[in-house]
Amino acid sequence: MKIMPNRMDRGFYQYQKEFEDKALEVLRSGWYVLGKEVSSFEEEFAAYAGTKHCVGLASGLDALWIAFRLLHIGKGDEVLVQGNTYIASVMGVTMNGATPIFIEPDEHYGMDPEKIEKAITDKTKAILVTHLYGMASRMDEIVAICKKHNLKLVEDCAQSHGACFNGKMTGSFGDIGCFSFYPSKNLGAFGDAGAITTNDPEIDRACRTFRNYGSQKRYYNEVVGANSRLDELQAALLRVRLAHMDELTEEKCKIADKYTKGLNNSKIKLPKLAEGASCVWHQYVITCDERDRLIDYLNEKEIGTIIHYPVPPHLQECYKYLGHTEGDFPITERLAKTVLSIPMYNGMTEEEQNYVIDAINAFK
Ligand SMILES: *Cc1c(COP(=O)(O)O)cnc(C)c1O
Repeated sequence: MKIMPNRMDRGFYQYQKEFEDKALEVLRSGWYVLGKEVSSFEEEFAAYAGTKHCVGLASGLDALWIAFRLLHIGKGDEVLVQGNTYIASVMGVTMNGATPIFIEPDEHYGMDPEKIEKAITDKTKAILVTHLYGMASRMDEIVAICKKHNLKLVEDCAQSHGACFNGKMTGSFGDIGCFSFYPSKNLGAFGDAGAITTNDPEIDRACRTFRNYGSQKRYYNEVVGANSRLDELQAALLRVRLAHMDELTEEKCKIADKYTKGLNNSKIKLPKLAEGASCVWHQYVITCDERDRLIDYLNEKEIGTIIHYPVPPHLQECYKYLGHTEGDFPITERLAKTVLSIPMYNGMTEEEQNYVIDAINAFK
């Protein structure tokens, strides 16, 4: 049996007829950018995320850099970012000229609240939390720190659609929540797509203006903006999937549950949620000291895996100018050497899961 880390085709076939009907409807409508599909999706997604507003954008990276732009965070400002996040979180900060200050993760792969306060300086303007792998970060402590130090809070929810902390949705805690709907995400489009969520009507308005060349009224430009619009086709297809989001998340939780109950190899550590956090299992990430040997072993059994992520942002070539070297963030660096995402996708069969579990348990 050959098993891939992700099978986006399965996610398509789950609701094939609905996707096809909807796509044809949009293609035949003659209206392709900023129309009723986008505004309906924005309303429906805001309701889902528990925020007053949602603004559709072209990608998750755009959501991140535009978020910091709208908060007027730039040159000379510092933003606290967790060390083990995906590179796009950091780019959202540096594209505005601001400086990322890396914070080591806790044992739940999230930003460690206990390490935040000693990194705060008089230049610190915001915290960017990533709910990595679909796990909510420890938001009670992080929100309290933001309040105490008067910092803006931005959430990178690109992997956490539907994940909660103490029953409250990720993307509804901060000033701005940033979402990606890249095809492999839990709520995936059929191309690039993203959005921000916010409770602030001014940010909502500013974002709608910014994404459309800085214009509210056609051919009148208030600010120098971007072209970052979610298109009608993607919005329409996202609406189809969003309507099934609860069952899709439940399915992933069942797969994760089966892994957690079935995996019992002493060489492997399983993911562990923080108290109060829920997880929507964008990835099921294990750690193993002999990770690279495990990858080869699983490859031999035709089980594909992915490392999220092999090189932490502070050691990436593009961030050489920040001046970090190996050893600066040992917990982050250790994770880069030991994490492994095992197959996890909607439409994964029980037979496939059992094959993965048995193979990992037999690793010596
Ligand atoms: C996917 C992802 C992004 C970027 O989203 P795109 O839509 O691919 O630009 C940002 N942050 C995290 C944590 C992601 O996983």
